[in-house]
Amino acid sequence: MDPSRSGHRTGPYFTIDLHTHTTRGSADSNLAPRELIERAQAIRLDAICITEHDNTWDLKELVSVAAIHGVVCLRGIEVTTELGHVGVFGLDEYVGGIYKLDQLRKVVDRAGGLMIANHPFRYKLDPRFSFINSDHQTIDIEHPERAARLEIIEACDAIEVLNAACSEEENLFALKVARALNKAEVGGSDSHSANSVGVATTLFPSRVSSVDDLVAAIRARATRAGRGLLDGCVKPFDLP
Ligand SMILES: [Zn+2]
Ligand SMILES: [Zn+2]
Repeated sequence: MDPSRSGHRTGPYFTIDLHTHTTRGSADSNLAPRELIERAQAIRLDAICITEHDNTWDLKELVSVAAIHGVVCLRGIEVTTELGHVGVFGLDEYVGGIYKLDQLRKVVDRAGGLMIANHPFRYKLDPRFSFINSDHQTIDIEHPERAARLEIIEACDAIEVLNAACSEEENLFALKVARALNKAEVGGSDSHSANSVGVATTLFPSRVSSVDDLVAAIRARATRAGRGLLDGCVKPFDLP
């Protein structure tokens, strides 16, 4: 890749927006696939992952368009399960029954894929909304280690510790949980429109050209969540 277009200006990372939705596969998105790629190039993202809700699509056409723009384009799925949203890499298609977390884990394991607990604490730290938590209990933010008991955290390989559509408190708690449990850390914008693309990212230590590369790096816990790309200075997301 031409280094001037690789995004390395922003730091020694290969920077990926791991979580985006487009009009082609997500009814709630305003972001056309080509608009996503053009935006990714403009802000110097190295790669984007398209993670539609509960479906995936043939990326061949898009991959070639993305390559012209110097952006790697990879495919995932955001699977809606009974216990929350899970970012999945390594599946070529949606498989019936994976709305059940244990079934999803089996299917993903057979495919050699990866599961990420996406925005695991969105709206879940406010005691007024504790009824949405699976055990109806308020999550105690003083005790991130107790989140290990949450089935979705236990079942996933990685935690989305930075999601651009979550509050700072929700993201920081997710990061504390990941650190307490020694889980891999990733970030993504959860973009449904162009202006938020790249606001939250995952920082990889080296080039990622395929889903296999991506899965291997996250499994090895070699990634950090990052932000600051739009300000020209990507930094790992850390505790204050
Ligand atoms: Zn989601
Ligand atoms: Zn999403």
